[in-house]
Amino acid sequence: MRLILLGAPGAGKGTVAKMLTALDGSVQISTGDILRGAVKDGTELGKKADAYMKAGDLVPDDLILGIMAERLQQPDCANGFLLDGFPRTIPQAEALGGMLDKLGIKLDFAVNLDVPREVILDRLTTRRTCSNPACQEIYNVKSKPTKKEGVCDKCGSPVIQRDDETEEAISKRLDTYNEKTAPLADYYRKKGMLLDINATSSDTVVNTIKSKLGIGCCGSCA
Ligand code: ADP
Ligand code: ZN
Repeated sequence: MRLILLGAPGAGKGTVAKMLTALDGSVQISTGDILRGAVKDGTELGKKADAYMKAGDLVPDDLILGIMAERLQQPDCANGFLLDGFPRTIPQAEALGGMLDKLGIKLDFAVNLDVPREVILDRLTTRRTCSNPACQEIYNVKSKPTKKEGVCDKCGSPVIQRDDETEEAISKRLDTYNEKTAPLADYYRKKGMLLDINATSSDTVVNTIKSKLGIGCCGSCA
């Protein structure tokens, strides 16, 4: 499958992407994960992106477009991909259209995960993330705690609260989302490419996407 996942921070794009990759070997491409990896490794990209991310601002389009032009050409994208966190502005969406045309790739559709603001705020303040860049498992102190406090169940690394998950940065990220990214839903709706989903439960989201793609629960009901 080749999908764009749209939705506010905390809407569950990462969780849904991970569930979908398990279905058909598509890869999750998260620009947030790529950028956090670059910050941690202290690369040129990371140095440029760090301050924007901490403040809850978007990283400039040209940096992101450079990353994505390269990423979409990697061989693992041949089985499909789930774009998680990209595009995030209208210029990014237009550039993505151009990149895909050049590569001869057609998207299935864009999914808009719609979650009430109260639910988002609650999820983000209680979210914890594995600090190991190769793992990045997501936990929640209320709904999905680690078995041992502060330690990732999967890889044993410390589980942390992201720098941009303080209340101030969260509120800034939500404002940035409403201003810059929310208009993308209309952009894809006008192209007849949008699937709107009420996204309070990740299982419902995955099932709705599967039925739209015509993937059944077994070989005989597809
Ligand atoms: P969330 O969706 O939870 O806000 P992400 O992990 O997708 O978080 O992104 C974290 C940060 O990385 C964003 O706040 C922004 O600074 C930067 N970022 C990620 N993707 C993009 C993008 N496509 N364009 C600009 N900045 C981005
Ligand atoms: Zn881990």
